[in-house]
Amino acid sequence: MQKALRARYILFCGSQPLYGYSVIVNNDKIEDILPNSEVNKNKYKIINLEDCILMPGFINAHIHLELNWIRRKLIPFNSFSSWLAQIIDLKKQTSKKEMIINSVRKSLKESIDSGVTTIGQISSYNGLDFQEIIRSKIRTVYFFEVVNSTMPNIDKSFFRKLINLDRKDKNGMFNLRLFPHSIYTLDTEKLQNLFKIAQNRKINLGIHLSESRDEIRLIQKKKSGLEDIIFPMLPKRPKIKIKSDSPLSYLNNLNKNKQRILLVHMNNLIKADLKILEREQYGVVLCPRSNLFLNQRLPNLKFFLKYKNIGLGTDGLSSNFSINFLDEIKSLYLHSKKFAKKNCEKIVLEKATIGGARALGIENMVGTIKKNKKADLIAFRIKNDNPFMSVIDSNNNDLKLSMINGETIKLK
Ligand SMILES: [Zn+2]
Repeated sequence: MQKALRARYILFCGSQPLYGYSVIVNNDKIEDILPNSEVNKNKYKIINLEDCILMPGFINAHIHLELNWIRRKLIPFNSFSSWLAQIIDLKKQTSKKEMIINSVRKSLKESIDSGVTTIGQISSYNGLDFQEIIRSKIRTVYFFEVVNSTMPNIDKSFFRKLINLDRKDKNGMFNLRLFPHSIYTLDTEKLQNLFKIAQNRKINLGIHLSESRDEIRLIQKKKSGLEDIIFPMLPKRPKIKIKSDSPLSYLNNLNKNKQRILLVHMNNLIKADLKILEREQYGVVLCPRSNLFLNQRLPNLKFFLKYKNIGLGTDGLSSNFSINFLDEIKSLYLHSKKFAKKNCEKIVLEKATIGGARALGIENMVGTIKKNKKADLIAFRIKNDNPFMSVIDSNNNDLKLSMINGETIKLK
């Protein structure tokens, strides 16, 4: 039987909030949007959300589900490179599978509890996260992470299994990407090689980019913490061949075939970078709280609030105090108010939904409420007369419904 989700307000179903409408869900899809008065009670299974705001599910476009365990072990630090040195050390010492799987389980729960229906997951342990993700029923854009030393993983059976799954999956629940970790953990040649593999396999890419001042100094061939602290810890110093003005110009020059690359962070940009972004329209993910956590400046919000292909991410618990997506939304909102004097609430929620979908390249499937899109929907109890403000002001307790691919995951 088809479901009718009967709500007080519906957001992101056209340019203005709808009042007193229902979303009709048939299997995995949104079939129609009807005025409540036209919803025949005998034809549909009615889900009553009349004290709620119904909207597209949140998209946490950048998360590391596997890294919760790090938070407990981190000691205070005062620079990006001294943080990264700790992460490298901790990862070397710790290889307990159960601990990592536990991290994944907890992160998935926190994501779903805060209204997330799609994650952009960075997978760093060659598939330890995989079973838990499938079990959770969350929609996943799965970024298979590679650094110099893990390059051989792309020739192993698990990665081949992922490629098959990506091809076979008709529901769009699993979407594979390749994720070169950063420009400073890969030889230029290896990075070029990954571009080639991605092109041959028809997979899009993602990368952490322009995250720290050290990264900029490195690419400009200046003295940096990466050179002094990080490279001596690695099995081999990465062979980065080209000197460039910025990480983005380096990457963009290597991207000869204009492949689709998701750029994560982008909080340390030069003017020329903004021109490249305007021209190439790369997808970007901002992780504002992670940037502050790592002693970095915030992204250029004046520019990015107007940028179209842009999503929001919590990053992992290795560089944030929570992976609760509502916390990230509130934080972006507070930092954005001075730049978006009008409709800031709506703009921020767009980044948390359709913006993330565009950045991840799945905007045809999710991100708005539209006929034939996937039924990835959430509902929050009304807390404020302005429905956008109401959602921004919400907490986990206010989440009444979560539906992914037409299946009810949570209903209070
Ligand atoms: Zn990250």
